[in-house]
Amino acid sequence: MTDKGILFVFSGPSGTGKGTILSSFNQKYDDKNIKYSVSATTRAPRPTEIDGINYFFKTEDEFNQMIKNDEFFEWAEFCGNLYGTPKKAVFDLLESGKDVILEIETKGALNVKRMYPDAVSIFILPPSLSELKSRLMGRGTETPESVQNRFETASRELPLAENYDYIIINDVLDDAVEKFRYIIESQRLKTNNNKNTILEVLKK
Ligand code: ADP
Ligand code: 5GP
Repeated sequence: MTDKGILFVFSGPSGTGKGTILSSFNQKYDDKNIKYSVSATTRAPRPTEIDGINYFFKTEDEFNQMIKNDEFFEWAEFCGNLYGTPKKAVFDLLESGKDVILEIETKGALNVKRMYPDAVSIFILPPSLSELKSRLMGRGTETPESVQNRFETASRELPLAENYDYIIINDVLDDAVEKFRYIIESQRLKTNNNKNTILEVLKK
């Protein structure tokens, strides 16, 4: 029997580089034991985003129905849109021994930690506020109002970093990716995550 997978919560202000770190990590390591939860959102898709891959894009009515049906592990409002983690997919993957990454904002992240204390939470800090703003603008996905809204939200999110298990400053991208990998690998080595592995060895 395999051990249950580990739940990683990956968060930090919009524009800090969460998506960039995860996609660079994927390209570099192609880790088959890690799965990414696909959230539902009422936000409009960006030109490069694909329904079912980046997000499940929902109307507000559809999202509210999902809340009523108790389909979410957690959900939160962020800068005028709703975002939620579908529960079943996450727990099915964890049960099958896969590690799961939730890339979610701070309210959802802290709720997950409360409901599931074994979750390992990682906060991605920008090297500075001015760099955060220029990354948000440079991404080219936001209107000036949305950049401002996300930047103001960041000032409320940044102090919450102290509640997370790990902090990574995303200055040089490759360094941040390596630090992320250290965290993943060290969690995998914890005795608690290897109880069944020990039993399997004893049977051999
Ligand atoms: P998030 O997912 O946290 O909202 P993104 O991954 O979309 O942030 O990154 C925001 C912008 O910052 C993107 O244009 C990305 O290319 C850029 N970026 C991310 N990490 C770095 C880095 N270490 N150095 C410079 N630019 C970065
Ligand atoms: P974006 O609109 O840039 O894709 O995401 C905005 C914020 O919503 C990001 O901080 C992202 O991590 C967060 N987010 C994405 N999916 C979820 C989710 O399922 N739940 C919560 N709470 N936040 C999410």
